[in-house]
This record gives sequence, structure tokens and C-alpha cells, in this order.
Amino acid sequence: MPIYEYFCPACKTKFEQLRPLCEVNEDAACPACKTPSSRTLSKFACYTKDSGGSSSSVGGSSCSGCSATNCGSCGL
Ligand SMILES: [Zn+2]
Repeated sequence: MPIYEYFCPACKTKFEQLRPLCEVNEDAACPACKTPSSRTLSKFACYTKDSGGSSSSVGGSSCSGCSATNCGSCGL
């Protein structure tokens, strides 16, 4: 199951949740205050960076672990 990052507008907290694909576009309740929080569009897939070799050969700043072109969290 993919992990997604959410940001709570009430307490300014970022949190991550594992969610099935069918619920990706639904709000997630903040673990601290239960406020419905929207998903943030950042580097959520980079936890896969350690799997499977290194020949992704993108040759640029593209992250091999996610579709972002500039992934700041995994350093790829
Ligand atoms: Zn909150």
C-alpha cells in the first residue's frame, strides 16, 4: 500500500498515512486533532529508493523512486 503525506491546516502538522489507492483523494483525519487534511503532493513515493539496483539512468535530477523531477527527501 502506498504511503501518502498529509498536512493538517488546523495544527500545521504533516503526517503520513498508508492508504489504499481508492481512498487517495479523500481527506485523512489528522492524528492529533482529527481535522480532515488534504494530501500534499510531495515525494511520497521515495521510500522505494532502496529497492532494486541502481540502473535507473535518468541522468538528471529526476528521482528514480518517484515521479517527481526534483525530489528533495531522498537525495537521488
Ligand atoms: Zn491537526
